[in-house]
Amino acid sequence: DPAANPNRAYGGLKDTDRIFQNVYGKYGHDLKSAQKMGDWHKTKEIILKGDKWIIDEMKKSGLRGRGGAGFPSGLKWSFMNPPGWEKNVGPRYLVVNADEGEPGTCKDREIIRKDPHKLVEGCLLAGRGMNATAAYIYIRGEFYNETVILQNAINEAYKAGFLGKNACGSGYDFDIYIHRGMGAYVCGEETALIESIEGKAGKPRLKPPFPAGVGLFGRPTTVANVETVSVAPTILRRGGDWFASFGRERNQGVKLFCISGHVNEPCTVEEEMSIPLKELLEKHCGGVKGGWDNLLGVIPGGSSVPVMTKDVCENILMDYDALRDVGSGLGTAAVIVMNKQTDIVRAIQRFSAFYKHESCGQCTPCREGTTWLNRMMDRFAKGQATEKEIDMIFELTKEVEGHTICALGDAAAWPIQGLIKSFKPVMIERINDFKKQNESISYGGWVDGGK
Ligand code: NAD
Ligand code: SF4
Repeated sequence: DPAANPNRAYGGLKDTDRIFQNVYGKYGHDLKSAQKMGDWHKTKEIILKGDKWIIDEMKKSGLRGRGGAGFPSGLKWSFMNPPGWEKNVGPRYLVVNADEGEPGTCKDREIIRKDPHKLVEGCLLAGRGMNATAAYIYIRGEFYNETVILQNAINEAYKAGFLGKNACGSGYDFDIYIHRGMGAYVCGEETALIESIEGKAGKPRLKPPFPAGVGLFGRPTTVANVETVSVAPTILRRGGDWFASFGRERNQGVKLFCISGHVNEPCTVEEEMSIPLKELLEKHCGGVKGGWDNLLGVIPGGSSVPVMTKDVCENILMDYDALRDVGSGLGTAAVIVMNKQTDIVRAIQRFSAFYKHESCGQCTPCREGTTWLNRMMDRFAKGQATEKEIDMIFELTKEVEGHTICALGDAAAWPIQGLIKSFKPVMIERINDFKKQNESISYGGWVDGGK
């Protein structure tokens, strides 16, 4: 309904409003190509406008952290500049989280592959806003080729005088370093990531203190996602109000969605926030395999958020508030589509194996809980559990949720809770089928045509 959302660009986002113009890799990712697409344009002027101006524009834009949590970015960055921050002499850091590990998520990878200069320029401008002296980009170890591309872009920027001493001729000094991870999902958690850069085992710290108070090497630090940092230069060039004109109140801007699973053309695409899910799938992915009526459910934001059933998917908007209101979440905007040929119990069991494997083990509810959850889910997937155990596993997820140091515990609990909420009859049917089969075997006869 256009009246309900007057700012929405009905008919889809115009090409002139796309930030990631090279997401399909039509152009090069070298400095010259990047400059043709508008990167590094008047960067010096933006730097000279100063930290307060940068933070104010970011606040105006309504941008919320694109790593998954959706914390307001301008506000978060402003925590680096409390009154009297200048007296706290010493280095201050921006850390970019490029440890993209959430199952289904591949948007930051596309930015680094195709638009690395947006990230490099974003580090400089975000860094200026928070008065950071350097940025560390923590990149997922498996992203070897992406690391090479990113390092080349950084080298080009240094060579052109955009980074280092007197960056862009602005009088501001700024360096960027890349740090490669070693394949642990939990190192995407911001404090585990900081520990890892410091050379320690990647185990999350208790918060507070938040990194803005005590961060990398004990210094004020902001950890921000690749997409969040990469959209900053365009926001600062076109204005916070331009960015805020897309989407809905509290859910503004444009966003990369990565759509995988049972769609005809899986892709990563930039669209307006609050686009209806159905429109997103039909316009950009050629629809659901087997048609919309063949849809079983959708996980809208990476493996950590609960699955939505088809009837919820009919009219849902893809934004933080709409998805939270139906008990799911936008998370990383990794849309995992499952049609009726999916074994949904097996799919959620696979997630539980992932979380068990990736738990760092330092808190008991997560270490023991993810192992139990996975063992039980193994049996549910085979139908070997009992109906009573559905309540038991739900209770167990409640023992894990909210009782751990980092969000991995919640992430392990929520998909199982979603399964029980939306697909309990499927779990029961699996149990009954298995029972029937076993009875038939023990009586030495065939029931149901030997199914
Ligand atoms: P969070 O809500 O704890 O924090 C979000 C950000 O806001 C952090 O940077 C935190 O420091 C800051 N913050 C929050 N409250 C603050 C306060 N009072 N003062 C100062 N700063 C504050 O969430 P999180 O644990 O950082 O992230 C969880 C999300 O990460 C999940 O929702 C999931 O979607 C996402 N995730 C993403 C990936 C990926 O590959 N991108 C992987 C795993 C999880
Ligand atoms: Fe480690 Fe899990 Fe605790 Fe996070 S919740 S700190 S992954 S044990």
